[in-house]
Amino acid sequence: MSAAWTPLRDELARWRDAGRVADFWWRDDDAGQPAPALARLTCLAQQAQVPLALAVIPQHAARDLVQAPGPWVSILQHGCDHRSRAAAGEKKTEFPAAEAVPDALARLALGMARIAGPHTVRALVPPWNRVSSPALLAQLAQAGYQGLSRFGPRGKALAVPGLVQVNTHVDIIDWHGTRGFVGLESALSATVAHLRARRTGEVDGSEPTGVLSHHAVHDAACWDFLERLFDVSRSDGAARWSAAGELFARAH
Ligand SMILES: [Zn+2]
Repeated sequence: MSAAWTPLRDELARWRDAGRVADFWWRDDDAGQPAPALARLTCLAQQAQVPLALAVIPQHAARDLVQAPGPWVSILQHGCDHRSRAAAGEKKTEFPAAEAVPDALARLALGMARIAGPHTVRALVPPWNRVSSPALLAQLAQAGYQGLSRFGPRGKALAVPGLVQVNTHVDIIDWHGTRGFVGLESALSATVAHLRARRTGEVDGSEPTGVLSHHAVHDAACWDFLERLFDVSRSDGAARWSAAGELFARAH
């Protein structure tokens, strides 16, 4: 194990010394049809015994994947068709500010119907981690959603009343550069930074640290990072990986 991992081991030790469990969760986006990378992903979850929250694009969803995603895998809804409807000047989003809320809800309901299954958690992962319509956000709990997952430390445990918010914090892909692994130092420093901010109270300490992957674009270094992260977090005993079903349990 290279010395690069020492800061993470040290941070996990601080959690353990404080009598706290550093909890993580793993979200992977853009699943749909069976593919070798997807098979490798679900295999990794099983081998590492780490729960995987697979954000599936309903329009692309294979029935077999949704019905039997494999041990350790749960299904979240990744938008509906993953098509940006952003207006000129608006950041990419499937749910733009100008779209009528009933239209968006109707599309979401059709999407949820396509991915409904025994391992599906009623949580929305909006493409590009963005819902640009506050009015839509306000309606999601009434529409039957338990949870919402975007990117960055959450401001509140509930995004709106009734809607549990659990985000991701470590994106392992360098989207603006190589579109491959972001690099060991970068991925680890994002992980340690979020853990430290939680521990010191700068951000919500009860929001698990979310690792975000995109299996379809993984290079060898991405796979290597995930495997090592699971190994290190398990071997240190201070960490645990939570399943989406418990994270997004309906708020009361
Ligand atoms: Zn996506």
